[in-house]
Amino acid sequence: MREENLTPACQRLYARIDLDAIKSNVKQLKSHLSPKCQFIAVVKADGYGHGAVPIARELEETEGLWGFATATAEEAFALRRAGITAPILVLGYAFPESYEQMIAEQIRFTVFREDTLTEISRACKILEKKGIHEKARVHIKVDTGMNRIGIKPKEEETAFVERAFLTEGVAVEGIFTHFARADEVDKTSAQGQLKLFCRFVELLEKKGYRIPMRHCANSAGIMEMPEAGMDGVRAGIALYGLWPSQEMRRDQISLTPALSLYGRIVYVKEIEAGEAVSYGGHFVAERKMRIATIPAGYADGYCRGLSGKAHVLICGRRAPVLGRICMDQFMVDVTDIPGAVEGTLVTLIGREGEEEITMEELGEMSGRFSYEFACCLGKRVPRVYIKKGRVVEIREEENF
Ligand SMILES: *Cc1c(COP(=O)(O)O)cnc(C)c1O
Repeated sequence: MREENLTPACQRLYARIDLDAIKSNVKQLKSHLSPKCQFIAVVKADGYGHGAVPIARELEETEGLWGFATATAEEAFALRRAGITAPILVLGYAFPESYEQMIAEQIRFTVFREDTLTEISRACKILEKKGIHEKARVHIKVDTGMNRIGIKPKEEETAFVERAFLTEGVAVEGIFTHFARADEVDKTSAQGQLKLFCRFVELLEKKGYRIPMRHCANSAGIMEMPEAGMDGVRAGIALYGLWPSQEMRRDQISLTPALSLYGRIVYVKEIEAGEAVSYGGHFVAERKMRIATIPAGYADGYCRGLSGKAHVLICGRRAPVLGRICMDQFMVDVTDIPGAVEGTLVTLIGREGEEEITMEELGEMSGRFSYEFACCLGKRVPRVYIKKGRVVEIREEENF
């Protein structure tokens, strides 16, 4: 894969992000849902490292898309600054210092603490004085098994919901929970969580609290628990074409990985038997070898856990990494790849002909996993966005 119109920074290393793949993944996921089910695209951690803004721009007009979810208020503000007007839900706790801006920008809160409601109400009053008449839209988080954040689905906790309904300035828009084990073959735990959630929602409805948007499914839930698609779902990893875990069935849905990663050989040399490669001298050649140096390293997210284990693709063939990955460079064996010369393109993640190196593979191999590998891709790696095979945008971080 060789793109035209790349910037100088892309010569060293770049991530190619196919926006059409992301759209296709949304379509695939939506085909598992009822048409009424609202789709929330999770773009936290800069869209799992893929770039939240370009992806949100691309998806904003998608039919049936409710909006986006981020982890933090700052991530939500960044989307608003970029002109995204669709609803945005902050999935984590937001700190009171951000409330005025969140309310003014119609960013949805996840609530589960009493003091949050008090602080929201206070922020609303301050905004009123400034002539901004906005209600804070909140989604109540119910903890059905993660023990992370959320109120417990117990009778006595209905008081919190009641309080939310009665708090001035607050509009209860949604209620949700999150599965801890929906990505496992055995769905007993996730089914149990779902049951607790449904029972709690029923209890609330009996008490007269009807909440419009009930949502619990993550990517794994969407794919394998159709009964969990209520009024909405929150899709993260699958948007990017990655599988939530190795236990997922792959025959139900077709995902296309959106990101590939390309570098370039900058130096080729021969070494003799007995010579060591890289820090620590852990790789020692047993014969005469040709080795190539690639100017990418753990500072780019190509982590040190891949030392001596990973492969890259060069001229359609797998070349093993030799010795330790350095901060900014690593070496591979190209003894049997005569086409590998200085300037040859190297695929770190992606496909060349029949061969493919996946994010999942590198994630597992390095002791990270796909989610972590994706969001740890370094900010000095330019992101090149592709539509219909053409470069439509290049994002380069100025401060790294
Ligand atoms: C990250 C996250 C998601 C998305 O999960 P995926 O497994 O990436 O689909 C959904 N809901 C919550 C609360 C999350 O934190």
